[in-house]
Amino acid sequence: MRLIPLMPRAALLPLLLCVAACATAPKPKPEGGSAPAVEVVAPNLAATAWMQASQEYRGAVRGTFAAAARQLETALAQPDWDALPPSERVGLPMQGLPAAVIVDADETMIDNSPYQARNIRDERGYSLPSWQAWVAESKARALPGALDFARHAERLGVTVFFVTNRAHDPERAPTVANLRALGFPVREDGSNVILQGDPRAPGEDKGTRRRWVGERYRVLLMLGDNLGDFIDGSRADHPSRNALIAPYESWWGERWFMLPNPSYGSWESAIRRACDRSIPPARCMRDGLRHD
Ligand SMILES: [Mg+2]
Repeated sequence: MRLIPLMPRAALLPLLLCVAACATAPKPKPEGGSAPAVEVVAPNLAATAWMQASQEYRGAVRGTFAAAARQLETALAQPDWDALPPSERVGLPMQGLPAAVIVDADETMIDNSPYQARNIRDERGYSLPSWQAWVAESKARALPGALDFARHAERLGVTVFFVTNRAHDPERAPTVANLRALGFPVREDGSNVILQGDPRAPGEDKGTRRRWVGERYRVLLMLGDNLGDFIDGSRADHPSRNALIAPYESWWGERWFMLPNPSYGSWESAIRRACDRSIPPARCMRDGLRHD
């Protein structure tokens, strides 16, 4: 994961206006006729606690991997099955190609919530040095069910490609080491781990890397936690994202599997695009809520 384009600006603030996390907290009394006071909480507190501690999150993740594993066998049996968006398959015949799945790494196969927890503890936001220090530790854990899914694919002869927006330089070596130590099927040369800036398929978004895989493999399934893990163009506003994904609604749970991630993602920058830059991120998010 390269978090810079994905991390919310809200996460850069030391404190946020409380939105969802305070739904059950005692409400401060309004003073005089002024606007109600708002509590402040650390950014990502509720999301990180949910992802680390709740059976609800574990259940959602495990269920997604179990469904993907079942679907893998269905996809493998159909020679014309392909999970690449047609725009990325154009000009790339897939007849006779070996089978692969494309998975994202962060918050799809491995868990970086300790990094978020450290930021909360230390009252700081995301920074590249602190992120790269976490990556260098190579100690992210596997998400529940991720290893079972990857090993199931391997047993079926399906290559698992890890296409991640972690930076090729300098995050490749610790990322490969982390995945391998967890037992994921990583080749000896690490060539099935494709990071942002990989010379085989340079490009900020993942489309060029998916096409690189698609030139060589029939892509049976894709798994991710962010729209950009499936199709380019996710860094847009919500109406554009809605239009982008409309042709693929039926692919969810069939060819594409989305893992829950309430902590960060391009969905946040989409919300920000609806607001003037002078409006604080949390205020922008709150103002955009529906009340019908
Ligand atoms: Mg991710």
